[in-house]
Amino acid sequence: MIDSHCHLDFTTFADDLASVLQRSREQGVKHFLIPGTTEQGWQRQLQLHKDLPDVDIAFGLHPYFAQTMTASAFDTLSHYVAKHHRQLVAIGEAGLDATVETPMKTQQDRLEQQLTLAAEYHLPIILHHRKTHHLLIEMIKHTRFSQGGVIHAFSGSKQVANTYIDEGFKLGVGGTITYDRANKTRATLAQAPIEALLLETDSPDMPLAGFQGQRNTPQQLPRIAHELATLRGCPIEQVIEQTSRNYRQLFQRQ
Ligand SMILES: [Zn+2]
Repeated sequence: MIDSHCHLDFTTFADDLASVLQRSREQGVKHFLIPGTTEQGWQRQLQLHKDLPDVDIAFGLHPYFAQTMTASAFDTLSHYVAKHHRQLVAIGEAGLDATVETPMKTQQDRLEQQLTLAAEYHLPIILHHRKTHHLLIEMIKHTRFSQGGVIHAFSGSKQVANTYIDEGFKLGVGGTITYDRANKTRATLAQAPIEALLLETDSPDMPLAGFQGQRNTPQQLPRIAHELATLRGCPIEQVIEQTSRNYRQLFQRQ
């Protein structure tokens, strides 16, 4: 199976990344996508991609970090993408977050720029949402973005899911579905077309139910696959095979 969203460039993995990866591979996790958040991260990602054949990378500006939401941070991103776009499978993690201090208008400006950049290089985009589905959908439609991508850590209703799928997006399925209280998201992902789903951990964040307070790692991906298979009433092998195929279709298109 493939972890389509794990921040293995973060310093929390600096000391033991090799053993985290090894244990994950032993659990059947064969491929990893590291989304970009900051310039510091992009440099680390390039090195990891160079060293590890099972690691894909994307460059982007994450709305969570104030220093990434400046116009000059975007200029730096465009230079990095111009230089390294052949090594990238996507732009992102970009998006809109209603719970951070950066004004929404500033976040929207950075997102629109990143969508334009992705379109220019014919790359899909990795989108972060937090209480912003309506604004993200508005932006995708307004920019007529047609490269598709993934709504990372999807949570929400069937109607919202279908709107994204109609716009060419896949839904990232993460640890949220292991929480009983996530009724709506569990019901949505139980019924969504399996061709639209990707597996992800969002490591080191989003610990699974029962693991709160601990660092999350890609080793947990089989538990998410298992939960998704249980929700859908299908064999775990089918979840693994189809989500891996979806990943290759979206990110490894050449
Ligand atoms: Zn993330």
